Parts: sequence; C-alpha cells; structure tokens
Amino acid sequence: MNLFDTLARFNYGELHLCRDEKTGLRALVGLYSTRLGPAIGGTRIKPYATEADAVDDVLRLARAMAYKAALAHLPHGGGKAVIIAPSGAFDRAALFTRFGQFVDGLAGRYVTTEDSGTSPSDMDVIRTATRFVVGSSNGSGDPSPFTALGVRRGIEAVAKGWLDRTDLKGLRVAMQGVGHVGAHLARELAQAGAELTITDVDPARRQAVAVELSARAVEPDAIFDVPCDVFSPNALGGALSEATIGRLKCRAVCGAANNQLATPAIGRALHERKVFYAPDYAINAGGLINVAVEWAGYDAARARRETLAIHDTIAAILERSRREDTPPGEIADRMAEEIMAAGPAK
Ligand code: NAD
Repeated sequence: MNLFDTLARFNYGELHLCRDEKTGLRALVGLYSTRLGPAIGGTRIKPYATEADAVDDVLRLARAMAYKAALAHLPHGGGKAVIIAPSGAFDRAALFTRFGQFVDGLAGRYVTTEDSGTSPSDMDVIRTATRFVVGSSNGSGDPSPFTALGVRRGIEAVAKGWLDRTDLKGLRVAMQGVGHVGAHLARELAQAGAELTITDVDPARRQAVAVELSARAVEPDAIFDVPCDVFSPNALGGALSEATIGRLKCRAVCGAANNQLATPAIGRALHERKVFYAPDYAINAGGLINVAVEWAGYDAARARRETLAIHDTIAAILERSRREDTPPGEIADRMAEEIMAAGPAK
C-alpha cells in the first residue's frame, strides 16, 4: 500500500493514526474536510483483513460524512474513525479510553460518535478522556426516529417532484428491513396513508410491524418483485446490484440504508431506467443532524426542524438531476463539493 497515493486517490488531506502497545489500539481517523467546521462522524470497530482495507474504509466513510454534513447544511466537516479490532481478548474500557485520548489530541477538529460495532456505553468511556464526543448514554438518544423522519420528508419531495402527487395517500411503498429506522419509517408512512409492503429477515419483527400497521408482509427475497411506486431499502448496504435492479418495479428508490448502490454503475443504470434514486447520504441525514444539534446544545425541536428540511435538499437534487440529465448520486456529490468550496455560511 502506498499511503500517499491512496490519499490522492480519495482527494484527501489528512489521515491520523494511533498505535498503543498496552491496550492493543490500532486506530485511524480520516478528516476529509474541516472547512465548514469540526469534522463529525462515528467510530467503527471491526476486524480488517488488511491494513489497506482499514485505510480504504476510513477514507471512503469520512468523505461520505463530509458530503452528508454539507448537504444537510451543518456547520461540520466530515470525519470517521476506524479501530482495527484486536484479534484476541482485549480490555474494551482500556481500549476506548486510549482511543478517547487520541481523539482529544486532535483538539476538536474531530468529534466522534457511535457507529457499527460501538454503542453509547463506549461513548461514555471515550467521554472520560475527551469532550469531543456525542451520542453517549446521556446524550440525544436513539437517532433512528430522526433518520426515519428525514426519509419520510425525502419521499414527500419525490412524490411531488417525480410522481406528480400532492401527498402520500395511496402511495405504494415496498420496504426492505423494518429494524430501528424501518419500523419508525413504516409508522410515518402508514400515518400519511401510504400502502405498505414490508419484509425483514427477522420473521417476528416482520410479523409485528405488519400486524401493527395492517401492512402486507412478504419473504425477504420477494420484496424486489413487488410492484410499487417507491422501493425503500432500510436494511444493509448494497441492496441495489446487478442482480436486483432488473427486478425492481418502482419509479423511485428512497430509503435509509447506507451505501445502497453496489457500484456507481448501478446509479447510472437506474437513471437510464427513469428510476429516481434519492442519494442515501442525503436522505438519511436525520440521525447526523440530531447528533450535530447535540454538539451545539441539544434541542429536540431544532433537530426536528432541521431534519424536515431534507425535503428541500431532495427536491433540489431531483430538479438538478432532471435539468442536467445526470444521475442524482453524481449531482449530490457535486452539490456537496460546491457547498464545501463556498465555505461556512456568513
Ligand atoms: P437495524 O439493524 O435496526 O435494522 C435493519 C433491519 O434490516 C433488521 O431488522 C434486519 O433484520 C433487517 N435485514 C437485514 N438484512 C435484511 C435483508 N436482506 N432483507 C430484509 N431485511 C433485512 O438497523 P437500523 O438502525 O434500522 O439501520 C438500517 C440502515 O439504515 C442501515 O444501513 C444503517 O446503516 C442505515 N442508517 C441508520 C441510521 C440510524 O439512525 N439508525 C442513520 C443513517 C443510516
């Protein structure tokens, strides 16, 4: 791995590394940009096959956070931390304390929060070593309702701007995954009068949500074949791939899952099929907005108000994608880079 070539490939400035013999900590913090304010983004812990995989992951994820924060008009840059999980048993509290010291050394240019593999109790440990952390157990709490609210607002923008509807009544939505975000989203959509078909690999969860909302439930693989207006991925990444997009019978894709497109080519293929894809990081920014408001001094009403504005962001992407005949994912990337280049709001 040539580190500086890798940084150049991702158009990066900064990658910070920390190794600690005593605790077994091997951590990376990528800062894509701090132009708009302190970089904010979660800490992920997992085993990586190679160090190059960890570097790629942190750089890719931090850039996505920068784009997400910029499009959500937050006074934050984008960053992310990756901890390479030690191979044997380890003292979790000692590891996260040492990691907190590492974050503290970045002197506020990076604010961390939870991500896959970490929890509010890990943030509590980090907080003993630094104040540059949000999402601890006495923080703003579960971000999922805010993420779901933002996705509902994005779907409203798509219903208006792409599907010529005035509201969500009778809108047919096929939902993949009804976990934390998906279940909240299903409730929001059902309340607005949408007709839901849902699935989840967990049959008990699928059944519970179907009964609660009088929704139709199907087996996980069948969700791709459901005729609908909106397909909504709310499970894992990579839902839209060569294998699945040919099966979709929808006019738009709007969901909370991260990394919905298996490859950028899938974004172009959807555009050619006239399926509007709401860029994942633009529509699922509600959770980030919530923790950014926590950083500023928590105010749930403000977090809600700022999340409602995701409607306008999706409407603007849709309008420009149509005008420039360019896939919405590419438009969103461009808009985010433009917002960062323009610098902080005066
Ligand atoms: P979760 O684990 O609570 O829910 C995911 C659900 O999807 C689970 O119920 C799981 O059983 C189900 N699932 C997994 N594979 C499936 C498959 N192949 N088919 C059908 N169902 C499947 O996670 P979550 O917090 O609800 O997050 C969902 C997605 O949204 C993730 O991609 C996450 O990264 C993204 N996201 C979440 C937030 C948030 O606030 N929680 C914010 C931004 C993005």
